[in-house]
Amino acid sequence: MEAGERTLDEYRHAYAAAFDRSRCTGRPAYLRRELRQGWRAKLPVYVLWCEDCGIHTVTHPAGYGRIHCRGCRRHEKVLTWVRFRDKQAPLMLYLLAAALLVLSWLFAR
Ligand SMILES: [Zn+2]
Repeated sequence: MEAGERTLDEYRHAYAAAFDRSRCTGRPAYLRRELRQGWRAKLPVYVLWCEDCGIHTVTHPAGYGRIHCRGCRRHEKVLTWVRFRDKQAPLMLYLLAAALLVLSWLFAR
């Protein structure tokens, strides 16, 4: 069930709401995590509606959360875990440093 790529019609049937949402918003809509042939891990799969081509594309994000239209290659961005992690990492380090500072202050007394 998990393996293998579905046809666009199968996706459209199974995820009609997501297809509609992408068409309304012009943004990629999340479908599910999927393991395809040749992939080492499950990846999130999105549907993207392209106004210019008038077609849906079902694909996974390429580098840094870009979903490309299969017709014109125009891309929309989605927030993937990798992007989220890269954005949040400096903030987490800062908070960690602050926490250590407070701890050392408490124990120094
Ligand atoms: Zn397009």
